[in-house]
Amino acid sequence: MLISIVVPCYNEEAVIDRFHEHLALELLAIQHEFEFVYVDDGSADRTLALLKRLGEADPRVRYVSFSRNFGKESAMLAGLRYATGDAVVIMDADLQHPPELVGRMVELREQGHDQVIAKRTRDGDRVTRTWLARGYYKLVNRLVDVELVDGVGDFRLLSRRAVDAILQLTEYNRFSKGLFAWVGFPSVTFEYGNAVREEGRSKWTFGQLLNYGADGVISFNNKPLRAAVYLGLILLSVAVAYALWIVGSVLMDGVDTPGYATLLVVMTALAGVQMVMIGVIGEYIGRIYYEVKRRPHYLVQTTNAPSTADLKDLV
Ligand code: UDP
Ligand code: MG
Repeated sequence: MLISIVVPCYNEEAVIDRFHEHLALELLAIQHEFEFVYVDDGSADRTLALLKRLGEADPRVRYVSFSRNFGKESAMLAGLRYATGDAVVIMDADLQHPPELVGRMVELREQGHDQVIAKRTRDGDRVTRTWLARGYYKLVNRLVDVELVDGVGDFRLLSRRAVDAILQLTEYNRFSKGLFAWVGFPSVTFEYGNAVREEGRSKWTFGQLLNYGADGVISFNNKPLRAAVYLGLILLSVAVAYALWIVGSVLMDGVDTPGYATLLVVMTALAGVQMVMIGVIGEYIGRIYYEVKRRPHYLVQTTNAPSTADLKDLV
C-alpha cells in the first residue's frame, strides 16, 4: 500500500524540519511505502526553501506552493488532489498531531475502515475555550444534518475511495469537518492526548473561530432560513392577537390613546428581527455569489510534483 501524508504548512519554518525528521523516523517501523505532500500555503517565511531542501534530500517529498495564502481548507484540498496513495493521512505541521499515531491509523485501515479519525482530548486548553466548544457542538448538532464531534478535526486517515468522494465535492466554501462527515463510509474514531503547540503560533484569532463556527452551521443546511420563516409566523400571530385585543378594548371601553412606549418597543423589536433575517438571507446569497464565480480554490506557484493534479480544478 502507498500511503500519502498531506501536510498544510503556513509559516512553519520553526518546526517543519523537526516534523519531517520525526515523522520519517516513525514511519520506518511501518511496512508500507510513503509519500509526503507538503502544501506551502503562501508562507512569508522560509517554509518553501526548507521544503525544497527536504525534496532534494528525500525523493518521497512532494511540495506544492501557492501564489499566496489561501487558507488551510484550500491547502488540504490541494494536498488531497496531489496525493497519489491508496490511503491519505492529513496532519498539521506543528507536531500537534503526533506522528507516532500514524502506525495505529494504518493498522485500523488494514482492518477495513475507510476513515480513521483521531479525536483529541482538550487537556491544556483554556477552560473558557473548552466550555465554549462544548456549547457550540451541542447547538450545532441540533442544527446540521451531519454529526460534528468536539475534538475531531482534520487529523485522519482516508481510504482512496473516501478521498475520491471528497474530491467530488467542489464547493468553494469548504468546511472540511462537515465534508468528511458527509462522505461517510465505515469510520472509526480513537482518542489521543492533546499536545500544546511548541513553536510558532496558532493562526486562529477569536473572531476567526467565531466565523468558522458560523460556517459550520450555514454551509450544511438551510435550517436558519427555515427558522426565520417560523419566527416570522410566530411574530405574525402575536401581532394578530394583539390587534384583535386592541379592537376589542376600543369597542368595549372607547378610544384610549396612550401607547407611545408600546409602539416604540414593537417597532424596534420588529426592525431588529427583520435585520437578523435579512442577515441570514444575505449569508446564503453571499455563498451563492462565491459559488457561481467558480474561481479555483488556489493557484500553484511552484511544485516538484507531476502537474496533472491542477487539471482537476477545471472540471
Ligand atoms: N495552516 C495553513 N494555512 C493557513 C493557516 C494554517 O496551511 O492559513 C496550517 C498550519 O501550517 C498548520 C495547520 O494548518 O499545519 C493548523 O494550523 P494552526 O496550528 O494554526 O491551527 P490550530 O492547530 O490552532 O487549529
Ligand atoms: Mg496547531
